[in-house]
Amino acid sequence: MQELTHYINGEHVKGTSGRFADVFNPATGEVQAKVPLASKDELDAAVAIAKAAQPAWEKVNPQRRARVMMKYVDLLNRDMDKLAEALSREHGKTIPDAKGDVQRGLEVVEYCIGAPQMLKGDFTDSAGPGIDMYSMRQALGVSAGITPFNFPAMIPMWMFAPAIVCGNAFILKPSERAPSVPLMLAELLEEAGLPKGIIQVVNGDKESVDAILYNDTVQSVGFVGSTPIAEYIYGTGCSQGKRVQCFGGAKNHMIIMPDADLDQAADALIGAGYGAAGERCMAISVAVPVGEETADKLIEKLIPRIESLKVGPYTSGNDVDYGPVVTGAAKENILRLVQTGVDQGADLVVDGRDFALQGYEDGFFVGPHLFDNVTPEMDIYTKEIFGPVLTTVRAKTYEEAIQLAIDHEYGNGTAIYTRDGDTARDFANRINIGMVGINVPIPVPLAYHTFGGWKKSAFGDLNQHGPDAFKFYTRTKTVTARWPSGIKEGGEFSIPVME
Ligand code: NAD
Repeated sequence: MQELTHYINGEHVKGTSGRFADVFNPATGEVQAKVPLASKDELDAAVAIAKAAQPAWEKVNPQRRARVMMKYVDLLNRDMDKLAEALSREHGKTIPDAKGDVQRGLEVVEYCIGAPQMLKGDFTDSAGPGIDMYSMRQALGVSAGITPFNFPAMIPMWMFAPAIVCGNAFILKPSERAPSVPLMLAELLEEAGLPKGIIQVVNGDKESVDAILYNDTVQSVGFVGSTPIAEYIYGTGCSQGKRVQCFGGAKNHMIIMPDADLDQAADALIGAGYGAAGERCMAISVAVPVGEETADKLIEKLIPRIESLKVGPYTSGNDVDYGPVVTGAAKENILRLVQTGVDQGADLVVDGRDFALQGYEDGFFVGPHLFDNVTPEMDIYTKEIFGPVLTTVRAKTYEEAIQLAIDHEYGNGTAIYTRDGDTARDFANRINIGMVGINVPIPVPLAYHTFGGWKKSAFGDLNQHGPDAFKFYTRTKTVTARWPSGIKEGGEFSIPVME
């Protein structure tokens, strides 16, 4: 049994708390490693190391900091296969999907190479007589990030790449369900030239999260995970005077208009609903066909596509559409919610409950499910299922369809399938959701735009990556300067205005 470590001050360090969590291979159901769960003391010790290392790193000029990121991109590409294999082994997603996970993080690292440009300040010459005014963006000090199991490479990189290139030290507390890749990512960053103590990985659970939230040195906290924990971390972190951004759960609707290309829409729903076993915050989990005829045709097109989905372990290579879910507990929760759907009267038109994979009977595989005639009060509509379960809510009109998405408490992503520009434009303008796809099912913005939901899907006012990340990980200082020769008129008692 492998015992995983923390990554502190450039070393793999064994846990000392005596507490561990099991790390599964979801395809076989076996425990493949145990991960140490840090105590408050272990977390605080890592923060003290970060605090000591950070000032020198902040003084390294931005171009040299960016060069570490350049080298990091090379190393991530060099180790892509290794990273993807480790990721699939703990998470269960297919190898091509695992490579996408690394790639989407890597693209944010590439964006961070532009740090010298992003960190350039503003300057106003002669803002007043003999007065210059300039502003600069300075690092916060020590930042921390708490990440979910479903993107063990991408989400940590979304946080630590901008934090570090801005001159901060970073403490990463990854998901205890998929901790190996974050450890590898930290090691590679030091191989790229990052000084010791600037990136550290502290594995753990609520105890280490609370230690982050109550540590006075930690200036900012980023979180991605489920909404109840996002709310807790946002509330607690803010009450401790920290800068906090938290991204939570989702229930993404895709509206299918009668004029949509239904084959295209059905293909999109298959990928967006069942890819990564539905364990994506941008998965489409609600299909909203407009009109009975659209709904009937869509369901007819979906059923054979769903029934021919190939579910299996990542070791089967490209032959698999999606793998197991992350743990036995996740599988149980999905199947429990499916049962509530049946009990509350929805039509289970594709029933994956009896799915079994020969040779992998103990793996956490869940067959694909499709519900029709779901209504807004049902648990399968209100709750995030986070599994391979697509629900269909039939809407009579476009207005009814958009209203469903507007009224849902989550607001991460959404999509509309239509050939009508007017409808698409109206939808994009009126919808109260952060990321919108027009004939695009998973509208994840690229690295140089920003990522973030609305409503109960995000807390805090800045998004992840893109220009917002440079704002989140720095603070602005504005200097108003006058040289002594400019002072000629004695004291000034009313607020200065530039005339
Ligand atoms: P989770 O909330 O269970 O865990 C996320 C992190 O919080 C982990 O590091 C975990 O150790 C920690 N944590 C768990 N319980 C805690 C507690 N009681 N106190 C303090 N910390 C705690 O989420 P998950 O199951 O790992 O990830 C899936 C969830 O993440 C889904 O809801 C999904 O929609 C969401 N997600 C959101 C986004 C987004 O950008 N909005 C992206 C990816 C995933």
